[in-house]
Amino acid sequence: MRVLLASRNAKKLGELRRIVAAERLDGIEVLGLDEVPEFPEAPETGATFEENAIAKAVDAAAATGLPSIADDSGIAVDALNGMPGVLSARWSGKHGDDLGNLELLLGQLGDVPDERRGAAFVAVVALAVPGAEPVVVRGEWRGTLLRAMRGANGFGYDPIFVPEGETRTSAEMTPAEKDADSHRGRALRLLLPHLRALAGQR
Ligand code: IMP
Repeated sequence: MRVLLASRNAKKLGELRRIVAAERLDGIEVLGLDEVPEFPEAPETGATFEENAIAKAVDAAAATGLPSIADDSGIAVDALNGMPGVLSARWSGKHGDDLGNLELLLGQLGDVPDERRGAAFVAVVALAVPGAEPVVVRGEWRGTLLRAMRGANGFGYDPIFVPEGETRTSAEMTPAEKDADSHRGRALRLLLPHLRALAGQR
């Protein structure tokens, strides 16, 4: 069975493919948007991760006829009352400017003491099957934010995020270590029973 992952982010596509392989979901082939005919993609304008993930998955399923998975993710900072949240990818004004976003956040938290630097990465993943109600799952990964960057793996806010129980940032962890614990890994694993059911592997 073919399942579309409606994301242009090669790292997210890689994460899902690794998780499907690790869970031995035989018979499921994960396709990226580059492997299906092009269709118009609506901008992410929802007020919540859930709205954005569902809209992306439902649009992709309607356009391609394939079961489609989409995610929306970000970082929710305690001292900023949960912001940047859905605005994480464009916090500094330009979509996808990872370094600009991270530096702006570091500046905003300059005066925030160590004991109030808690944050959570959040990932909401939606699975839309043509003709059925979408399934939505959420994964969270709590940690604290450093005052300077460390590590070269990952992307986005990884160089300043130290997960609970870790001394390294998520940019210093290997991809496999990050998948095992991350918000996206947690959400995707909650989706596995639904994918198994779809593939007839109950
Ligand atoms: P999305 O592609 O619209 O879901 O945007 C997610 C944004 O949240 C990214 O641009 C990153 O800034 C941030 N983000 C989400 N997941 C991660 C992660 O695993 N590590 C670091 N930053 C992340």
